[in-house]
Amino acid sequence: MILYQNQFVPKDKMHISFEDRGYYFGDGVYEVFRIYRGKLFEKQAHMRRLVRSAGEIRLRLPYSTEEIEEKLESLVIQEQIEEGTLYMQITRGIAPRAHVFPKNAEPVLMAYCNEVKRPLGSIKEGITAVSVEDIRWHRCDIKSLNLLGNVLAKQEAVERGAGEAILHRSGRVTECSASNVMMVKDGVIYTHPADNCILHGVTRAVVLKLARQEGLEIREEARSLEDFLQADEAFITGTTVEITPIIRIDGQAVGTGRPGPLTVQLQSAFEKAIIS
Ligand SMILES: *Cc1c(COP(=O)(O)O)cnc(C)c1O
Repeated sequence: MILYQNQFVPKDKMHISFEDRGYYFGDGVYEVFRIYRGKLFEKQAHMRRLVRSAGEIRLRLPYSTEEIEEKLESLVIQEQIEEGTLYMQITRGIAPRAHVFPKNAEPVLMAYCNEVKRPLGSIKEGITAVSVEDIRWHRCDIKSLNLLGNVLAKQEAVERGAGEAILHRSGRVTECSASNVMMVKDGVIYTHPADNCILHGVTRAVVLKLARQEGLEIREEARSLEDFLQADEAFITGTTVEITPIIRIDGQAVGTGRPGPLTVQLQSAFEKAIIS
């Protein structure tokens, strides 16, 4: 079933207007939640980010956050998903094509769940990455439907035989196409500060909290691509990828070319957090 506004619609009966501004302009915001043991993981953090993203693009939410939460939860229950993801988006509504905001359009909410297993293979073995210039706009902190820069980066990574693209602005690493990125050097964890250049990942925040609890040193500072190539360890964080090691960048091994000790330590702390 698809949640569309107030209704649950069967997938094959689901239609979207050609005049939805999501379709014309990517004019909307979205969230991807993880479902563990039938529950939305870090639900409040995702809801806060949704509210913030909508506010930053001056999009009025069609329902209160409590109502949205209730709808999403009843969707998860109805779909009986134990382990999976929930995708939701809200667009600025349906109106004849014009850049200026429509006066009377009702925002459109759409959401659905998928059963998705945890990517245990890549979590254990790691993935490879390639560096790609970050050509996106200057509001990467908004989880907007406009993902062309991300799509092009990911496509380039896959065509170059890698699992992710490490984005950099003139050599300063920001994040990845659909995840945040961290590196370890001499026992210190580095990640780009949560400013307008990166999406403020819920998983990123969970990992930083766990790292503090583990007594690890963290610096929220931008690092260069050169630093990443010289790093002892690197990993990405994201709702579906959790903590996935990066074992090669642009064909060069990161550290030993195997997932490093701090990465593994954070992964086991994360495992505990998702089952508690
Ligand atoms: C969603 C997203 C992330 C990761 O955020 P999570 O909340 O951890 O899933 C990182 N970067 C980009 C570009 C994203 O769209």
